[in-house]
Amino acid sequence: MNADAATTRPAPDAAATKRVLVIEDEASLVATLSYNLRKHGFGVLAATDGVAGLQTARRERPDLIVLDLMLPKMDGLEICRRLRAESDVPILMLTARTEEVDRVVGLELGADDYLTKPFGMRELVARVRALLRRARSSDGPMPDRVIAGAIELDLRGHSVTREGAAVALKPKEFELLAFLAQHAGQAFTREQILQRVWGYDFFGGSRTVDVHMRWLREKLESDPARPAHLLTVRGVGYKFSR
Ligand code: CA
Repeated sequence: MNADAATTRPAPDAAATKRVLVIEDEASLVATLSYNLRKHGFGVLAATDGVAGLQTARRERPDLIVLDLMLPKMDGLEICRRLRAESDVPILMLTARTEEVDRVVGLELGADDYLTKPFGMRELVARVRALLRRARSSDGPMPDRVIAGAIELDLRGHSVTREGAAVALKPKEFELLAFLAQHAGQAFTREQILQRVWGYDFFGGSRTVDVHMRWLREKLESDPARPAHLLTVRGVGYKFSR
């Protein structure tokens, strides 16, 4: 008698199962969302505070994130901003009040869509499907790994090696490197980099970007004065070259 046989459905095509990460602190809503998403064939991961949510997103690289705006430890806007610097994962934002919608949409933090609570589960599943369709038709998933010469960046593991040896980077150095590496070949102004990596509430000025670029070059380039990967684009700003 095999108890598992009765409860385990034939495995669906594992590669085709899309995984949704739900970051929401309201336990009953997490349960309802998980139940409904699973019922519609999605794999579900859940986190109940912002810090755990960001860690899970980085570690598990889900296909889509349902992200509550108001969360303990780190709010949804901050999570959205940080994730956007690293990946194009579709983000569906949940907001408790309509006034909050202005913040989500107005700040253009990169949420792809939003729903105002309370919402119906049919509506949620429809939005999730639409976002996944849209994501599939674009460039495909961001890479887990970027290799450029002797530098290897593991985006899933949040680590960097140079000639096989681990390089210790501060969190902002890693975020800056990850952002540029994932958009390799594309030049960004200091202001764009500040917005994407440091956020809208940062008032440190564009000099901060220069300082971090210098530190990254010192840690990663064999000749920091003649960088091969972390390049200055004259009149524009910076870009990453493989
Ligand atoms: Ca909440």
